[in-house]
Amino acid sequence: LEPAYSFMIRTRTPGGVVSPEQWLKLDAVATTYAERGLRVTTRQAFQFHGVIKTELKPTMQAINAALIDTLAACGDVNRNVAVAANPQLSASHAEVFAQAAALSEHLLPNTRAYYEIWLDEERVAGSGSEDEPIYGEVYLPRKFKIGFAIPPYNDVDVFAQDLGYIAVIEDGRVLGYNVTVGGGMGATHGDPETYPRLGDVIGFATPEQVIPVGVAVVTAQRDFGNRAVRKRARLKYTIDDRGLDWFKAEVERRAGFPLLPARPFAFRHNGDRFGWVEGDDGRGHLTLRIPAGRIVDGPLDGQGAAVSHLSGLREIARLLLAHEGAQFRMTPNQNLVIAGVPAPVRAEVDALVAQHGLDGYRAASPVRRNAIACVALPTCGLAMAEAERYLPDFVAQVETLLDRHGIAQAAINLRISGCPNGCSRPYLGEIALVGKAPGRYNLMLGADHRGQRLNTLYRENIAEAEILAALDPLLAGYARDAAADEGFGDYLVRSGVVAIPYPTPTGIPV
Ligand code: SF4
Repeated sequence: LEPAYSFMIRTRTPGGVVSPEQWLKLDAVATTYAERGLRVTTRQAFQFHGVIKTELKPTMQAINAALIDTLAACGDVNRNVAVAANPQLSASHAEVFAQAAALSEHLLPNTRAYYEIWLDEERVAGSGSEDEPIYGEVYLPRKFKIGFAIPPYNDVDVFAQDLGYIAVIEDGRVLGYNVTVGGGMGATHGDPETYPRLGDVIGFATPEQVIPVGVAVVTAQRDFGNRAVRKRARLKYTIDDRGLDWFKAEVERRAGFPLLPARPFAFRHNGDRFGWVEGDDGRGHLTLRIPAGRIVDGPLDGQGAAVSHLSGLREIARLLLAHEGAQFRMTPNQNLVIAGVPAPVRAEVDALVAQHGLDGYRAASPVRRNAIACVALPTCGLAMAEAERYLPDFVAQVETLLDRHGIAQAAINLRISGCPNGCSRPYLGEIALVGKAPGRYNLMLGADHRGQRLNTLYRENIAEAEILAALDPLLAGYARDAAADEGFGDYLVRSGVVAIPYPTPTGIPV
């Protein structure tokens, strides 16, 4: 008798797009095989938690029956490509999404092992290697992440990606992309050789150059990334070890053309826009807040009262089946867009949203709306402290402080991670907790709200009472002295409370 091993399965869903049919099938997978419903990740994928070992294969096959796979959603390859959350807003948004999806397909590994293991496909070759022109025989030194942003919104946190594309759109035309390289969130406590880093802007690429540039960056990292020390295997360290100029020249040599000078860009914030917005074609797009990305029926972790979010979204999916083009789109901030809703159907969607309590974004404070947390305990084996289950409590405490200082509407960007790997991109939180031990966190402060400046360590290894005691005078000062529209992180840096110990990355406007 072996222990009842359970697993997490993550989908590959570039840009986080799912049709109503697929939603219903994934909902059935979650209710049949997984624990704790559907979970939206910060890379616009679904995670199914608690799938027991004997049911792995039928679960994978059920996911595939929804025409979704899990290929390259984990491992030392290019992961799920993140894309600005609502490409249906305009033709140019759709074009950016199409280019991101094409790059995602191009960077898939060619191995048939996935199909042979999970889908009972016959082995094509009994021996010998499959042709992997991009990954070669040993794949990449480490995972690799790509994001596409469409200013003025930086919802994908493009500077946190190994490779980023910032769309430059003029008069509705996608002229091309500013290219960023070397972002990454992961670090290890107590190891100064590891650190979060923001990507540098290395130039501009036309739409036709998106794939050649992507292949050049990925293969340069394949050949020069650190394979001796796994903690130093991400692209950010390759660039810091060899120099940005060297890396850019290597990318241009491999691509066969020089990058053009970067174009100006300006981001406004890195959160989501909640509620309805209307696209160029008159269709509506409704962004709902999904607390920590967890979609369940029953009590939400740390929040007591039961919800029926899974049932509500199931009913909305059934409603949308009859409306071609309607979709669900996960956001990189763990939220959900019900996209492409024809005008006459909006009222029905609104009614279901209200009936199932999915309209929490309306009453939630700005800090609660934008807060994100990684899974952490009890699911993630790397977690050192709570994150998802602690988020509601901690946000409530911060709300109390904000209220006390008369700034309840301050849109402070708050993030919690259960360990320094940083799956919730905590180093870009204006207030961030990074788990050290049960109930203890590093308090990180000083990031901006556009995803353009990392925070830094303010207090190490402290518990909730000390965290709140540290924040209280800072929020009082913010309420008293901040300039109009000044973000909390910007205020802390301007007033000298927090000194940022690293230079602004190349090409990021200050
Ligand atoms: Fe990621 Fe660490 Fe959170 Fe686990 S605990 S989900 S590895 S940040």
